[in-house]
Amino acid sequence: MTLKFHVLDQHGRARTGRIETPHGVVETPAFFPVGTQATVKTLTPDDLRAIGAQGILANTYHLFLRPGAELIQRLGGLHRFMAWPGTIMTDSGGYQAFSLGLALEHGVGKIAKMFPGDVEAPTRPSRKALARVTDDGVEFASHLDGSRQVLTPEISITVQQQLSADLILAFDECTSPLSDYAYTRDAMERTHRWAARCLDAWTSTNQGLYGIVQGGAYQDLREHSARVVGALPFFGLAIGGSLGRSKSDMHDVLDWTIPLLPEEKPRHLLGIGEPEDLFASVERGIDTFDCVAPTRLARHGSLYTADGRISIRKVVYREDMAPIDEACPCYTCRHFSRAYLRHLFVAEEILGYRLATIHNLHFILTLVARIRQSIADGSFAELKAEVLARYRAA
Ligand SMILES: [Zn+2]
Repeated sequence: MTLKFHVLDQHGRARTGRIETPHGVVETPAFFPVGTQATVKTLTPDDLRAIGAQGILANTYHLFLRPGAELIQRLGGLHRFMAWPGTIMTDSGGYQAFSLGLALEHGVGKIAKMFPGDVEAPTRPSRKALARVTDDGVEFASHLDGSRQVLTPEISITVQQQLSADLILAFDECTSPLSDYAYTRDAMERTHRWAARCLDAWTSTNQGLYGIVQGGAYQDLREHSARVVGALPFFGLAIGGSLGRSKSDMHDVLDWTIPLLPEEKPRHLLGIGEPEDLFASVERGIDTFDCVAPTRLARHGSLYTADGRISIRKVVYREDMAPIDEACPCYTCRHFSRAYLRHLFVAEEILGYRLATIHNLHFILTLVARIRQSIADGSFAELKAEVLARYRAA
């Protein structure tokens, strides 16, 4: 095994650590920007390095369909294909079973109302027939051409090996925050059976496989899943699926789950990345995150500042020559005004999306680096109080 994880400092449940992968060290807590289609939209690998990204998360479902994992393998693997030398995590495709099935029908994200009307899922060819979950895996219609496709635990692991990601995820079934107890329990038990099949299919010692804890927002299911998945010989553990209907539900899920997981394994929280959530999750023992929020919000003109998010399209910024955030040292804030950013967004110029993405990711990655430093020097509680006293959640 060329992968290793060490906990360095610990205060309460908050901890710092190092994940050593074949493509470098990830200092934790760490945030992985999402590069769904083997690109973090609008950014080059040099941009990502300049703003402090240690790793990215790419999406198995999308790369499996296009351009195809075998093609990427023939061309030297995902790192070479996208010219990203750092750590790559891939998801399992399981979330798409959720996005194409229940989430689309329910119109919700990981937390109910997280992305109202903005579930990132295709709407063709027919909403209800898009995905069918069986004990073997998930059958779905490609959103690209409607062709029938199948993902199973074995296929998901094979695809992730072909992509040659460093950190890979077990194939799981995500339930919606609106799924009832019986369905959530059945999906969790299916996820546990799939976990064993993923471990059997996992042959590469250059890849760290994460098991996924499911169970929705039900305490007994989460605790059961944490015990079952936590006892299996995975490299790391991820908290997946529905995190309930509110932030408080999400905190409960983490409080039930994390104390039951082994201390010596890295813990990933899937799909969470807002500033207040980063503090709440690190405080409860999470090591790594991925989330589309900073990049997606950037492309919608919603930009982080120390006082909360602003919508840069607003007319109030028309003559505002200040940077997005006075204290931000990113490329965008060093060179451009709110007035110019607003103009680019109103004119739908591509540079606007790029500059906004640089800023939002820099903001989140810098915040996570400060959190990491604060755990190391024992000032996490002070940093949390200082940042959240100003930051108004949108
Ligand atoms: Zn900035």
